[in-house]
Amino acid sequence: MLVLAIESSCDETAAAVVRDGRTVLSSIVASQVAIHAEYGGVVPEIASRRHLESVAPVVIEALKTAGVTLDEIKGIAVTQGPGLVGALLVGIAAARGIAAACSIPVTGVNHIEAHLLAPFLEQEIAFPYLALVVSGGHTHLYKVDGIGHYTILGQTLDDAAGEAFDKVAKLVGLPYPGGALIDRLAAEGDPVAVKLPRPLLHDGSCNFSFSGLKTAVLNWTQKNPEGKSGQLLNDLCASFQAAVCEVLTVKTWSALEKTGITRLVIAGGVACNSGLRREMSRLAATRGIDLYIPSPALCADNAAMVAVPGEFYLSRRIATINGFDALPSWPLDRIKARFAEAT
Ligand code: ATP
Ligand code: MG
Ligand code: FE
Repeated sequence: MLVLAIESSCDETAAAVVRDGRTVLSSIVASQVAIHAEYGGVVPEIASRRHLESVAPVVIEALKTAGVTLDEIKGIAVTQGPGLVGALLVGIAAARGIAAACSIPVTGVNHIEAHLLAPFLEQEIAFPYLALVVSGGHTHLYKVDGIGHYTILGQTLDDAAGEAFDKVAKLVGLPYPGGALIDRLAAEGDPVAVKLPRPLLHDGSCNFSFSGLKTAVLNWTQKNPEGKSGQLLNDLCASFQAAVCEVLTVKTWSALEKTGITRLVIAGGVACNSGLRREMSRLAATRGIDLYIPSPALCADNAAMVAVPGEFYLSRRIATINGFDALPSWPLDRIKARFAEAT
């Protein structure tokens, strides 16, 4: 089944054409990062307006790159939540408009579900697996028993990992979003140079906390104002990244041990982080875990990943949307209810 997928939950307008929820024929992403960088973060109203301008050209580009016409598309998958309501509505309205014009169905997809199924665009994975979603808004550990069957094992109690990267970047004067920049500077720094806490490391839960770590960085920069540039900044970035990666790795290992699951997916924008990829690869190699981390372009926000659950739901006629309801907050464990509604 040829699916057109649309994503507009935050600051990327994206469209993709995917065959059978597995083969990416095109994946176009128009990022608004440069616009929001001026404000130090995403401005929801500006994001909605930009989506409105970009959505049609991005969809046309996706069809053109895939070499298909709209009459070959059999269904549309669109991100329905979680995300910014105004941003989501633009994607949903576009999807509904195209679907109405072509008389094809539309399904609403959960953005986090799309992140944790993204690896299927590169290889098959047997269920169950454990998924660590680390992104701008989420740091969650899920047990994945199948498409649509997710159990939350743990989550952040305050900031998400990506949010912590971006806030730390901001407080040392790096532009938004700072995650990738910290990653780059960390490569030149000493990860044990600055002593930073590892919040909740040994509390026995699968939860995370990053706001204390961010405050520790703030306190350090106030005592060491020269640490906002040069080698000291590299050291600070390396030390901060090491703290985040250690907590993520130790907690993930403890969840694997508790559940006895031996397959692990790392997904979301922070899964691009080179330190995290390295630490998780080491963990997998020493503990006999099968590790799946999508290529960086599939970790960051994109529409191709939306087609994975999208095609699954469309082909089973589950979760077809007829209204324009965006779901700005939509916990993954509520998705099971859709199967009940469909039967
Ligand atoms: P969510 O998926 O929770 O709705 P989002 O869609 O805004 O949030 P993503 O686009 O998945 O989040 O990820 C963006 C986040 O990933 C940003 O916080 C960004 O700084 C971070 N990020 C991207 N690359 C890296 C990297 N190499 N190292 C660390 N963080 C990174
Ligand atoms: Mg983004
Ligand atoms: Fe995302």
